[in-house]
Amino acid sequence: MDANEIAAVFNEIAILLELRGENVFKINAYRKAARALETLTQPLDNLIAEGNLAKVDGIGKALLIKIETLHKTNRLEELEHLRGQVPPGLLEMLRLPGIGPKKVKALYEGLGIASLVALKEACESDQIAKVKGFGPKTQVNILEGIAFLKEGEGRVHRPIALEVANDLVNRLRQIEGVQRIEIAGSLRRLRDTVKDIDIVATLAPGVDPEGVMDVFVAYPQVVHVSGRGQTKASVVLEVRNPMMLSGRSRLGADLRLVAPENFAPALAYFTGSKEHNVRLRSLAIEAGYKLNEYALAGPNGPLDCPTEESIYRHLGLAWVPPELREMTGEIAAADPKAKSGLPNLIPMGALKGIFHNHTTASDGNASLEEMALAARELGLEYFGVADHSQSLGIANGLTPDRVKKQWTEVDLLNAKLEGVHIFKGTEVDILEDGSLDYDDALLAGFDYVVASVHMYMNQPKDEMTARIIKAISHPSVTMLGHPTGRLLLRRNAYAVDLDAVLAAAMKHQVMIEINANPWRLDLDWIHVRRARELGILLVINPDAHATNEIANIRYGLEVARRGWCEAEDVFNTRGVLEVTKHLQERKERKG
Ligand SMILES: [Zn+2]
Ligand SMILES: [Zn+2]
Repeated sequence: MDANEIAAVFNEIAILLELRGENVFKINAYRKAARALETLTQPLDNLIAEGNLAKVDGIGKALLIKIETLHKTNRLEELEHLRGQVPPGLLEMLRLPGIGPKKVKALYEGLGIASLVALKEACESDQIAKVKGFGPKTQVNILEGIAFLKEGEGRVHRPIALEVANDLVNRLRQIEGVQRIEIAGSLRRLRDTVKDIDIVATLAPGVDPEGVMDVFVAYPQVVHVSGRGQTKASVVLEVRNPMMLSGRSRLGADLRLVAPENFAPALAYFTGSKEHNVRLRSLAIEAGYKLNEYALAGPNGPLDCPTEESIYRHLGLAWVPPELREMTGEIAAADPKAKSGLPNLIPMGALKGIFHNHTTASDGNASLEEMALAARELGLEYFGVADHSQSLGIANGLTPDRVKKQWTEVDLLNAKLEGVHIFKGTEVDILEDGSLDYDDALLAGFDYVVASVHMYMNQPKDEMTARIIKAISHPSVTMLGHPTGRLLLRRNAYAVDLDAVLAAAMKHQVMIEINANPWRLDLDWIHVRRARELGILLVINPDAHATNEIANIRYGLEVARRGWCEAEDVFNTRGVLEVTKHLQERKERKG
């Protein structure tokens, strides 16, 4: 097992121990070690071989032995023992928002409920509302949570699906005779979660497809082959997914082999979306053609379509980037006669810096210097530190004294480091009533302020909306962090009137964050597009808690592209001088 797999085992053990009501320190030790393993700066193999694992912060002696055992044997008796003692349905119940191990334990011990199905039935027959510590409101929340999980069932977060899809394609590409091969489907459209992986490939003439299909169905993570023919095979994969409490997700994968002349039409067809394809087909009919997954054909047979561009061209359109194919105006914009055409999408390498990041001062696990250097390593010109504020005790939020110490550290580092500038920021908590977690004088001392909601997320919609609007109308607030608090496939957005928030952001000239953490991707692409249309400046932030999380900005860029953003719509495409000037002028104007 590698470090990430062992971390997943430790997280599972921590949950199982919690469900058994065991010692908190023991549970936390597993969690801490898991976090340490997920963020190792060296390969686990080397650390073990050189006997340096004990030096890693967060890994105690007892867990050291367990790591070595798992690394060597892939097994741990303790885990199997625990799994045997805890009904698997309890883990499923933990996926419900707002339901922690204590509540699950109470339901199991009190009513013998050990699965989501049983829990749903108990809610529907009004039994849960009567349990001590639950009440009618919790019962409604549980039912909503179950509906939410059902909706997300069978979906997987983008990075998880992308990693396995890329690996699969790389393996297939190495087979002799495989010519063109590409990922299609919602992965190609940069969707934040996907149901399955679609791959389209062509073979050189005379190559036997069986050999390719053999490799596809024998891929290590395949757990089920649901179909296999000469031109198509379908499998089910099981992949590691740290965002799921089970630590695993399942997703389908389809491989289609087509003749070279059919490749571009097949790629377009299997990329979708369905609605986009329907519109293309009707445009083809209007032009006297016929479009399907094999070809664009005229009265005299198929037209030459070596690329997707050529298909769109035959239909009188500019090529539509896959991430825009959602039937939200892209076909009209692709018409050369359109008043406003397709956007010049923000390039993937467009960001010059980032603003929302954490360090060891709050709940991050790398020092300010390490984080700034990692940003420089990725080619960024500036790094903004935005640790948590004082009320967020759970994340070791900074008191005003510690903020001032950090400012001194920033000044020293800025004098020392070359090629990267550090901005002084904070992720200040939006308190229950919409006031901010530092006083005005301290807030005015930062270069910029990210304001975010972390507590009291269950407020009614009107209260939450008023709370956020009050926060962003504060003159020191520069940007609103993760505006809806959603965790993909895990936790719904809090109830908030986003249109009202966007209108207020417009009025107060506050930027809106696209939180690029791939489990959040918050703001979502639909509202990104709306914000852009309103003229609100967006900002893409990784919310990095470790050096390796800075690279997550790619997922934020993808959301921006799906939201039709151009480079100028995103604040951090600007260089360090321009940003410095903008932030200063803003303070003078609002101060
Ligand atoms: Zn936050
Ligand atoms: Zn944060």
